[in-house]
Amino acid sequence: MDRFVDHRFEDVRLALGGGAGARDLFLYRNDLLGSPLFEQVSPPLLRWIADHKGQLIAMERDGVGFPPRFGGDPIGRGWRGLVSAKDRRALLGAALTEDRPQPLTLRIGCADGQRRWCLVRIARATGATGLPCWYGTIEDIHERHDRDARLLADALAESREHYRWSVDLSPQVPWTAGPDGNVEEVGPRWLDLTGMAPQEALGTGWLGAVHPDDLARTVATWSNHLSSGMPLDVEYRIHLRDGGYRWMRARASARRDARGAVLRWYGTLEDVHAERLAQRALSQSEERFRLAVQSARLGIWDFDCVTGARTWSGELRRMLGLPEEQPATTELALSLLHPDDRDRLRAMLEAVAEGALPPHFEATLRIYRADNGALRWIRSTGWTTRSDGGRPQRIIVTFLDVTEERDAEQRIRWAATHDPMTRMPNRALWQATLEEMATRSLANKESFGLLLFDIDDLKRTNDSLGHDAGDALLCAFAQRLVALAPSDAVLGRLGGDEFGLIAASLADSCALEAFSARLYDNVRAPHLHEGRALDCGVSIGGALFGDHASRADDLLKAADLALYASKAAGRGRLTLFQSQLRAEAQHRSSMIRMARQIVSDDLVIPYYQPRVDMRSGRLLGYEALLRWHHPRMGLQLPGTIAAAFDHGEIAVELTRQMLASVLRDLRQWLQAGHDPGRVAINASAADFASGDFAERLLERLAQFDIPTAHFEVEVTESVFLGRGTDQVAHALNHFSKAGVRVALDDFGTGFASLTHLKQYPVDVLKIDRSFVSNIERDTGDAAIVDAIVKLGGSFGMEVVAEGVESEAQARFLLGLGCVVGQGFHLGRPQPFDVLRPPVGDDRIRQ
Ligand code: C2E
Ligand code: CA
Ligand code: CA
Repeated sequence: MDRFVDHRFEDVRLALGGGAGARDLFLYRNDLLGSPLFEQVSPPLLRWIADHKGQLIAMERDGVGFPPRFGGDPIGRGWRGLVSAKDRRALLGAALTEDRPQPLTLRIGCADGQRRWCLVRIARATGATGLPCWYGTIEDIHERHDRDARLLADALAESREHYRWSVDLSPQVPWTAGPDGNVEEVGPRWLDLTGMAPQEALGTGWLGAVHPDDLARTVATWSNHLSSGMPLDVEYRIHLRDGGYRWMRARASARRDARGAVLRWYGTLEDVHAERLAQRALSQSEERFRLAVQSARLGIWDFDCVTGARTWSGELRRMLGLPEEQPATTELALSLLHPDDRDRLRAMLEAVAEGALPPHFEATLRIYRADNGALRWIRSTGWTTRSDGGRPQRIIVTFLDVTEERDAEQRIRWAATHDPMTRMPNRALWQATLEEMATRSLANKESFGLLLFDIDDLKRTNDSLGHDAGDALLCAFAQRLVALAPSDAVLGRLGGDEFGLIAASLADSCALEAFSARLYDNVRAPHLHEGRALDCGVSIGGALFGDHASRADDLLKAADLALYASKAAGRGRLTLFQSQLRAEAQHRSSMIRMARQIVSDDLVIPYYQPRVDMRSGRLLGYEALLRWHHPRMGLQLPGTIAAAFDHGEIAVELTRQMLASVLRDLRQWLQAGHDPGRVAINASAADFASGDFAERLLERLAQFDIPTAHFEVEVTESVFLGRGTDQVAHALNHFSKAGVRVALDDFGTGFASLTHLKQYPVDVLKIDRSFVSNIERDTGDAAIVDAIVKLGGSFGMEVVAEGVESEAQARFLLGLGCVVGQGFHLGRPQPFDVLRPPVGDDRIRQ
């Protein structure tokens, strides 16, 4: 206690309360100063007191374990030599502050020359004299401070390293600027980026790297923010070191002092080029999308499956006739829908709800517009996008009003698959239906019937009464067919005068026959057109699926053969397919193959059969008949290739080759001074198709210098029935005018009528040999021949009897007034070589 003056005893006494006695105080005082217990709980402290002059007036010397010795005596002003000037000032400053002084960390010089870190605490008091004095402690914290300082240094170094790495590796360029906006620091990446040294960027140097187009805007923005102090966020392009520009985003915030004044701006510069380009591409593509949608008149329904948000585009509302302000709901959409289509939309909506929609779907729905109730066809096309987990994310449905297209399309489709006149399916559609039916029937082992109809008199009606009448006849037939056909029948107009029918209810020959019979009954009733009765015969060919064919095309061929047979057999009848028809057809096509070969090998030879005046036996002329030479079997008759005379291209070629030989022979005959009379050749219907048959033939006659009086053309009545009768008339008139006679062959067997005799310039009637062969016994035949002779006579035509095989026939014919004959009895067909030796008289040697 004698070691220092302690003014605090009084304070302590007071602190312990007035009740404490003097003895207690003494004891406490002793404890406070001397108890070794304190040493255990207190850090090693030196206590000191300084007076108002700053002189240390008391200090514990051998304080409890303050180990080092000071480098000098601190008492009085001695302490000043132990601390640095800076620490001294800090100490005085702390002592003089009005507030409670903060503990100070300072270094005190020690005897060993070390300056040890100490913690000095000070308390201000007023001494007995009334002047201020200071109580204080010194704590040696040298070891602790050293450790802390090391830790601190480590931490600092670590933090610096961390900072360096962040700055170096960060794609951003950090920068700072003063309150005036002058840049003071720029991160090292600035150099990498721009090729400009960071020092050059300081102040306003960085503006040199800014794209000229962005400069004014950037400067203006920066100065605005400098004056407002608000955080900066601006994008501009900077010039790169390798040329080119990149979009950068500069952001900065101001650090302020306690009064709010800006101390410094801290900022970053970030490369946003890719984002910016992507954004621009996105907005461009969005713009394009918007324009595309607009110009395509697409309505859009957009459903975000995640948020549940639904959007109806303006165009969709316009399409539905909805006002802009009306809330668009599913119920509303359903109410506009055609009742038959509602279930489809509901199913779609349910699929949406369950996430069960396919990635792409389409549906065409009918709606009634909300504003005018008009029925419109709307085609909807939807797309679903899904997350990686497969959950639907978004559904976009586009809507397009396709009413006009649909109407037009339907019209086009109808027109492409129907015959506009009879409104029946055309061949393509009918055949497609036939194929479907065949496939189904084959699978179900079922049968069905097919009928082909060919109107017999269409050609004649067209020719004689005009095309309106022909069309009326077609329509009348179509109507009757529709009226009579069973309800399951599929009808079609397959060509000019050809119709088809397929029906499962006509699945056996009896049913086909019964139906055909009813149809014949019905079509027989004449149809009135502009006051004229049109009658309409029809030939029918029928075939049964299963019985006659097991494929659609085979069935059609079978019915076609049956129809061909019907027509060949004299029309106006039903023929059901039989396998024999197929054999006949095969025979026909083998004849055509053969004829093609004959033509290409030039094997045609004309044989000449004389035509004779049966009264005198005088030769009147010849008919040139086709023969051909088979390499092994020798001479062949034209019957072996009869079908070729009906084949367009080959028939023409046969005529051409015949004509060439006949003209050559005729020339020789004439040159030899022999008169062969008139030589006839047989023309086919196909010869007239070219339209200039007569011209070319006359030209050839002229080339060979053959007078037309030596030439004759035989045609059968079939040439008046087929297509192109105009050309036939043209050619025959031409022949007639040029002096080439025209003979009507096989007269009496064809389908033509007597009007042909009036219509066409016919000079000769050739009575078919079927009427001649039985003429003496068959009075009917005799009557026909008699009639033909009289008919020819009244028209001023020559009548020739064909196939005269006996003297008796010749006499009989002469008796009927038929003087000209042709036949084996009068002369067989002979080759030119045999006929050539000039005969002494006009008679033919048998
Ligand atoms: P077609 O024009 O009526 O010719 C007469 C046919 O009767 C010839 O048969 C002839 O040989 C045959 N004939 C003549 N006299 C008698 C007879 O007394 N009794 C019998 N039974 N038959 C007789 P061919 O030469 O076989 O000709 C058959 C048919 O072939 C011809 O009938 C004709 O339609 C056709 N044809 C012949 N040559 C040609 C030709 O060059 N062109 C064309 N397009 N058809 C031809
Ligand atoms: Ca003939
Ligand atoms: Ca004949």
